[in-house]
Parts: sequence; C-alpha cells; structure tokens
Amino acid sequence: MLAHAMGNTPVTTRRESSSTWNSAHDRAIVLWGVGHTHAHIVREWQRRPIPGARLTCISNSPISTYSGMLPGVLAGQYRREQMEIDLTRLCDSAGARLVLGNVTGIDHAIQAVNLEDGESIPFHALSIGIGSIPSRIPNESDPRSIVTIKPMPTFLDRLAARLREISQPSGARRLRIAVVGGGAGGTEIALCIAPYVTRILGPTRLEISLFHSRGELAVGTNPRTRDLARRRLFNRGIALYLGRRVAQVAPGSLTLCNGVPVETDLVIWATSATAPPILKTLRMPTDGKGFLLVRPSLQTLDCDTIFAVGDSASLESAPTPKAGVFAVRQGPVLWRNLGLFLNREPLKPYRPRRRFLQILNTGDGRAIAEYHGHGFDGRWCMWLKHYLDTHFMNIYNNVATSQT
Ligand SMILES: Cc1cc2nc3c(=O)[nH]c(=O)nc-3n(C[C@H](O)[C@H](O)[C@H](O)COP(=O)(O)OP(=O)(O)OC[C@H]3O[C@@H](n4cnc5c(N)ncnc54)[C@H](O)[C@@H]3O)c2cc1C
Repeated sequence: MLAHAMGNTPVTTRRESSSTWNSAHDRAIVLWGVGHTHAHIVREWQRRPIPGARLTCISNSPISTYSGMLPGVLAGQYRREQMEIDLTRLCDSAGARLVLGNVTGIDHAIQAVNLEDGESIPFHALSIGIGSIPSRIPNESDPRSIVTIKPMPTFLDRLAARLREISQPSGARRLRIAVVGGGAGGTEIALCIAPYVTRILGPTRLEISLFHSRGELAVGTNPRTRDLARRRLFNRGIALYLGRRVAQVAPGSLTLCNGVPVETDLVIWATSATAPPILKTLRMPTDGKGFLLVRPSLQTLDCDTIFAVGDSASLESAPTPKAGVFAVRQGPVLWRNLGLFLNREPLKPYRPRRRFLQILNTGDGRAIAEYHGHGFDGRWCMWLKHYLDTHFMNIYNNVATSQT
C-alpha cells in the first residue's frame, strides 16, 4: 500500500496499484496534456531527470498555446509563434516521449492510460492537466456560425477560415462580430480582435459586441477594474450587453434568452471555464462543474498515483479561479511531489496565494491591471504584462532550442 503524507499529516491511500514497483528503477511518469503546469515538469526533466524514471507526455496537439498572449497576437503585438510552445522540440530536448493522440480513459486496475488508437500507456504516476473548455454552446445552435476559443492551438486558423467565408466585397455593410463571454479573456478578445480581422480581410468596417450572462464584466475583479474595462469598451465603440445570456446561434443571428434576436455574422464563444467532458468519465471524484477534486498534494481525492493540475483540477479545501497564474504556480509543487512520490517520501502541500496579479491587454498599447484590490490603467501595465509573458515563454522556447 502506498501511503503519502503532507508534512506530518498522513494521507490515506485510496486506490492502489495492482502492479508493484521497485522504488529505484523503471518508473513511468505520464503527463496527460502539456499546458501551463506540465510544461514546467518537462523543462525540469530536461535539466535533471529523475534517475531510473521515464517521462511520457500525451497531448492532442503538437503545439501548446500560452493564452495570456493570444489577445496580443490578435492585436498584432506578437507573432503567432511567440505564444506557442513546440512540444516536439520541448520533449525531444528533455528526452521525454511525446505521444500525440486522444485518451479514451484510464484503466485503474492496471494503471494505464488508454488511447484511441489502442495503445495503452502504463504509469506509476499520472498527472492530468488538460485545461478547461468554454461552457456549453446552446442546443440547436449552428456550429458553423461559432468559433470557440478552445482548442486554442487551432483558434486562429478556425477564425481566419470563418472570416474568409463571411467576408463581404469591399464597401458592403459592416461585419458584425459577437463575442460571447465577458470574463477577462472574452473582454480582451473583444478589445483586441479588430487588427486581426484587418490582417485577414484588409480594411473592414466592424461592429463588435460583447455579450455576458452576468450583470458585471469579469466577475471576481474589483469594481474599479470593471469600470476601467467598461469604459475602454465604450471608448472603442464596442457594444456591451450585460445580463444577456445567448440562448441560440443561427446563421446570421443569435437569440438572447429573453427572445430578442441580434443580427451577427460571426460568434466567438469565450464563455467561462468548464470541465472537459472526458474528466467526468474517469470514475474519479469531481466538483459541481466536473473538475477533478484534488488534495493539497495535488493528488486526486481517491487515488494516490493520479495527480491533477491547472484548470482541470479543483483544490477541495480551497478552490481557486481558473487562471493560468495558478496553473503556473503548481508546476514547482507538482515537480517536487512527483519526485517525492516515486521515492515514497511525504509530499508537500500546494498553498495557493489568494492575491494575484491580473492584467488585461486592451489592444492599444495599454492594459488594465489589478492587484491587491486596486485597479490600474496605462502603458506601464502593458509593459509589465509584456515582460512577464515574454519571460515565461522564453523559458520554454530557449529550453527547446538550446538542446536541438
Ligand atoms: C483568451 C484567454 C486569455 C487568458 N489570459 C489569461 C491571463 O492573462 N492570465 C491568466 O492567469 N489566465 C489567463 N487565461 C486562463 C488560462 O488560459 C488558463 O487558466 C490556463 O490555460 C490553464 O492552464 P492549464 O495548464 O490547466 O491548461 P492549458 O494551458 O489549456 O493546457 C492544457 C493542454 O492540454 C491539451 N489538451 C486538452 N485536451 C486534451 C486531451 N483530451 N488530451 C490531450 N491533451 C489535451 C491542450 O492542447 C493544452 O496544450 C486566459 C484564458 C483565455 C481563454
């Protein structure tokens, strides 16, 4: 029986492995999804792999996207490659195996991840970090009219293809774009998308609207931040509809929950984070939204050998917002705990910081920042965001190039 402790607190073993393993040799770590948290593990592996262990990464895409820079890419502030981590290069540089494919489930009895192509990948420690997806598109909507923000690696291609489909001969009426979801991400997209449309279609008259089911933008931020965001949308001529849930999307229009139709050519779906449906099929405890419940050690509630991180996980004792900043901070904790786990030593707790810096790119060289209950607006906020984002990405892109 594997038993791990958080400091002095014993952690009861829940599900056990049917396979026994030697603590020193031939241990398999499998990372499912390579996003904000798991990229850190691959980078650490490149520097100092755990002796006697091997690392396998499973991803549904050869590229991992850094969401914090997506609005900047739309706004033309960054090239697309600057927000992308090339997983083939990253894994190669670390001597890790990269498996591109879709997972169909976990075989708990033999401790293996099953893939769509029939391969079964055994693990001694598995970490699940496949992120989140926008909440449900209403039934009977026309999927062709909607471009969802996820999967993010293909978002720009899908958006460009849809823009070309709906483009009008020059001089024709305005192109009407509806962004659905007024969280931080949706607000940034509404503010940053215009230059991208111009790059794809040439000069285009745009009418951009932002629809949000809640009564306030970017719920969770402070009133000053929300006020700054509202004013910025207003000054840029972006129509804001608060408290308006989109009930259906049809070709050429969407319908609000009060039955009011709104004409639109393109709907971008950027609603709040919900769990990828596969998490609910894993037969593991989840929260009300379907995210895997984890202990402070980042182990899932009933299985010592399975960890979960980032958006896919919900810390049972202290749930945090679905934000990359939390996923990033879990990286070092997960790395340390995987090593401790394989050595059968007590694991360390992840303690989320309640205060975190949030910066919204407004697409005009400025940004809105929030920290410690205060909201700020200015060019310096964008410089800070640029520094933090490019610093983060350089870590991965330099690791990838230095070894190839
Ligand atoms: C537009 C936008 C802007 C944002 N900006 C910020 C910001 O500025 N700051 C901030 O803190 N947060 C921001 N967020 C939130 C942030 O993106 C998430 O909290 C963060 O990505 C979570 O990291 P993760 O590692 O859990 O998931 P991800 O970074 O999404 O990584 C998951 C990885 O798993 C892969 N994957 C998914 N499904 C599967 C599968 N079935 N099998 C295999 N692989 C799979 C994906 O391809 C991806 O590479 C933003 C979100 C959006 C939508």
